[in-house]
Amino acid sequence: MFITDFDGVIIDGMDEYWWSARRCAIRLDSRLGTLPDAVPEMFRSLRPHVLGGWEMPLLAASIGGLGPSPQAFAAAYGPSLQQAVADLGWDRSVAEEALDEVRTDAVRHARQSWLALHRPYPWMLAFLLRLQAEGTPWRVLTTKSAAFTAELLANHGLEPEQVHGREDGPKPAVLASLLPSLPPEATVPFVEDRLASLLEVRQHPDLSHVRGFLASWGYLLPGDIDRAPDPIQVLHPEDLQAPLANW
Ligand SMILES: [Mg+2]
Repeated sequence: MFITDFDGVIIDGMDEYWWSARRCAIRLDSRLGTLPDAVPEMFRSLRPHVLGGWEMPLLAASIGGLGPSPQAFAAAYGPSLQQAVADLGWDRSVAEEALDEVRTDAVRHARQSWLALHRPYPWMLAFLLRLQAEGTPWRVLTTKSAAFTAELLANHGLEPEQVHGREDGPKPAVLASLLPSLPPEATVPFVEDRLASLLEVRQHPDLSHVRGFLASWGYLLPGDIDRAPDPIQVLHPEDLQAPLANW
């Protein structure tokens, strides 16, 4: 089995993150109507901190001058996020619902242009299509909703055995629930671009059979590649040419 994250590993969705974060923020506060259409550099550099998509409209608000400043987010992401929720009154459920509405609208009314905002990384697309052709089962573990993720994958001919979305819970818990079905000697490669998630998995006592790989092409924070401790391996596009058995 092969397990992979979605955003920043299979798909470069930066254009869509801003597109939906901006619309969501404007929906929640019309004062943000002046936010630019083009992805701000500040959004691009803060996006690697994001764990759940609902945080993105709060970043958009920050860039638009509401809540803590982008500099505050860059210096202390977690506390700034809490402060932003307190300042704006957009907690997780409010922001998540608004974001889902924006995306549902897009799928309904502008499906092709919305899909086109998501670009697969060519080496990962080729790798996953090869796994499928070989009959190797693979799964996706994401903090996006499973339905949107499956839709985006299908648009590129990708059909994982299963998509585990944010509805299924935190990634380490989902991984732990999958392992009992595997032979005890099996190791499972898990590719992520969020080092914090790989570190969480590494510390989980039931997940010693999961081998973490950090996708070098994803949304990394400065220094992530140097900070990744053994046995977490940094994965480069050319590494995907080797058969999975040799990883
Ligand atoms: Mg990711």
